[in-house]
Amino acid sequence: MFLTLLNCTETLARLDDYLDRELSPREVTLVERHLKICRHCSEIYAFEAAFLHGLKQKIQRLETSDENLADLMNRIRAALPAEDVEPSEK
Ligand SMILES: [Zn+2]
Repeated sequence: MFLTLLNCTETLARLDDYLDRELSPREVTLVERHLKICRHCSEIYAFEAAFLHGLKQKIQRLETSDENLADLMNRIRAALPAEDVEPSEK
């Protein structure tokens, strides 16, 4: 089976889509092939993947950390005037 090899420019142009898993299986194979043989691109890939991974973890931590959220809500409530509660209509 013949697969053309991508050069660095072609690989880097696909890197974002590769990280977002938006490439076709054929293009994924092409990018992976190049990353295996090219240290320059694999280092860029490793850096971007680590960056994205760290970012996702940070976002997840923000979303799931109830303690931080409760703390934040308390601070917001403390900063608001106490009588700022609307009377419930009946
Ligand atoms: Zn390369």
